[in-house]
Amino acid sequence: MITHNLGYPRIGAKRELKRACEQYWSGKIDISVLLEEGKRLRREHWLLQKEKGIDLIPTNDFSFYDQVLDMSYTLGAVPKRFSNVFLEESQPLDLYFAMARGYQKNGFDITAMEMTKWFDTNYHYIVPEFYKDQQFKLNAIKVVDELKEAKSLNLEAKPVLIGPITYLLLGKEKEEGFNRLDLINRLLPIYVELLSLLEAEGAEWIQLDEPFLVTNLSEKEKEVYIEVYNALAKRFPTLKIMLATYFEGLHENTSWVAQLPVHALHVDLVRGKKQLNELLSAIPEKLQLSLGLVDGRNIWKNNFEQSLSIIEKAIGTIGSDRISIAPSCSLLHTPFDLDNETDEATLPSEVKNWMAFAKQKIEELSLLAELARENPSEKAKNAFEANKFAMKSKLTSRLIHDKKVENAVKEITIDHAKRNNPFNIRQALQHGSLKLPLFPTTTIGSFPQTKEVRLLRSQLKKGGITANAYETAIKSEIQKAISWQEQIGLDVLVHGEFERNDMVEYFGEQLNGFAFTKFGWVQSYGSRAVKPPIIYGDVDRIDPMTVAWTEYAQTLTDLPVKGMLTGPVTILQWSFVRNDQSREETTNQIALAIRKEVQDLELAGIKVIQIDEPAIREGLPLRKEAWKNYLDWAIRAFRISASAVNDETQIHTHMCYSEFNDIIESIAAMDADVITIETSRSQMELLDAFVDFKYPNEIGPGVYDIHSPRVPSEKEMEALLEKAALLIPIRNLWVNPDCGLKTRGWKETDKALVKMVNAAKALREKY
Ligand code: GLN
Ligand code: ZN
Repeated sequence: MITHNLGYPRIGAKRELKRACEQYWSGKIDISVLLEEGKRLRREHWLLQKEKGIDLIPTNDFSFYDQVLDMSYTLGAVPKRFSNVFLEESQPLDLYFAMARGYQKNGFDITAMEMTKWFDTNYHYIVPEFYKDQQFKLNAIKVVDELKEAKSLNLEAKPVLIGPITYLLLGKEKEEGFNRLDLINRLLPIYVELLSLLEAEGAEWIQLDEPFLVTNLSEKEKEVYIEVYNALAKRFPTLKIMLATYFEGLHENTSWVAQLPVHALHVDLVRGKKQLNELLSAIPEKLQLSLGLVDGRNIWKNNFEQSLSIIEKAIGTIGSDRISIAPSCSLLHTPFDLDNETDEATLPSEVKNWMAFAKQKIEELSLLAELARENPSEKAKNAFEANKFAMKSKLTSRLIHDKKVENAVKEITIDHAKRNNPFNIRQALQHGSLKLPLFPTTTIGSFPQTKEVRLLRSQLKKGGITANAYETAIKSEIQKAISWQEQIGLDVLVHGEFERNDMVEYFGEQLNGFAFTKFGWVQSYGSRAVKPPIIYGDVDRIDPMTVAWTEYAQTLTDLPVKGMLTGPVTILQWSFVRNDQSREETTNQIALAIRKEVQDLELAGIKVIQIDEPAIREGLPLRKEAWKNYLDWAIRAFRISASAVNDETQIHTHMCYSEFNDIIESIAAMDADVITIETSRSQMELLDAFVDFKYPNEIGPGVYDIHSPRVPSEKEMEALLEKAALLIPIRNLWVNPDCGLKTRGWKETDKALVKMVNAAKALREKY
């Protein structure tokens, strides 16, 4: 039985890659320094896995931005709009980054490729763009070089590629008249070329990631899978292809997937525990099975006793030479190293002892392998005892349970989730009291997090400044933000979120039941990483969390200041969550906490309150049959948090990077008075769902892509708004950016928002 890994996180334990990329983008370092840093990180991560005893080590799991973008680049799927900009002699990496981030230089103004969430994770990938006459052309340098690099370190390397069908399904047709799956005939030869090169370079194993195999597939998709993998098997009789599935079980696909002529099949036994029995009986003679035992999506220790019994069963049925063990999915979604966490105040050692990060998960794997052997070492046996102890302590710990909270959740009734009156009545009252112009302008909450602001927060944490000095400094930022917003003519203001490191962590820090890490970074997109809090116990709000800042901002202006909260589903979704109770239960606890905050904001005189729920969509289960149940409790939790206020109080919600088509009914059921959404990168396409549904409440389709430093022109935004005004009743229409502005600089923010306000004014004149 061997151990292998599906992918290692790449940003670096201290976010070294983030820093290097950003320095390169801002011209502070040379490309050679960036490339060297990438190489150093790969080497470090590979050697660590080897040292910990992993038999097969993934390569090409490294990326300077995103593994799907890497694949598009490798397959030559570069959209035409980029092709004239970059000459043969320019740096390939510059073209690559331009695809991700847009390009506004040297007289060019090219929009970035779209970005969306990777399955049900908070990782964002760059969506491949497909055209009718789509051609592919191999550019194998990255994949081959990484294999060579690993080989030169004497590693047993397993190149990882996104499988051809998953690659196509991840993309989007950019014009009508074809189906992207039909491109497989042009794509497959490129994969064949790539696999041949890798085989020639000495690759024994290739991992092809096909996570779409866990979803509800159409007949056609299924047929393409069977054809493609048969063709590959024919062409590469000796190459060992490991077909990797994850994030769910194979469900109704189990029997035919097990028949695919690959060397090994990897399955996720954390999310898809139940599939093992069926698989073991469906598995054909020659197929090897990779058991995804160690949770790649969460930070809890593996339960050795349970895993060993699974391993034993698998070995008993098909023999140890046909079994390998692995994490459930790539470790991309877990932080680096728990050993770096030493702060008892934010992560009590009792809680820490229940946890494992990427490095620890790798150790767990080799320990499991050792324990499954005949005569495990003393060290492994001791580790087993320690593991049993940790599992037991988690079951019984007093840190976890709070009767008061558990009872409050039991006592939730339908009334908790209902506003006093329907939207049309509330709308009239709100218009009467807020007196906003047509096309009211607002922003999504955060303003640029400058170095100075971040320094303030870190100084406060380290004790470098007093709480008083901190408060004064943040208040001065708020004051500047308020007067600037008044000056440029925004209608509903925000305080700017300067006191927040992150929209989830900020709340978690003030709620019971949460723990935090110093270096628990997980890549979110490109150079952006997030540090998800850890929900380990019952959640409760003791004191107001945002009221003082918002109330202060409101004293500075007669215009309404919008209170800014993160919604229960998003707090759940962007945290590492308990695995000892249901997600629904945890979310209801959070909903009650946010509800108290909403009530306190209203009491403090705040008339507009936004409850951000950007993560509702990504929380959708991958399996369609599970959607309804999830949406029911998720929407209910939002409503529990939002419904304790008077009709005059206007509740906003915000969502970004979501497709709304298939969940629009639930979005409407949230019954937020105003929803702001991300739409600009898709040219308002995302609005269609709301139009088709005749969405009744107010809506602010984003007119400005905040994920790129590019400043849009006034005309562009005006055109987007006119498009929207034809689709949505104009008294329901708001004008705002796609999302918060915390990742942008002040200069571009000022320019863009002035233009946005002008665009709104231009529309007011027309209507
Ligand atoms: N209010 C948050 C902000 O502006 C919303 C962020 C988000 O939707 N991701 O930063
Ligand atoms: Zn957003």
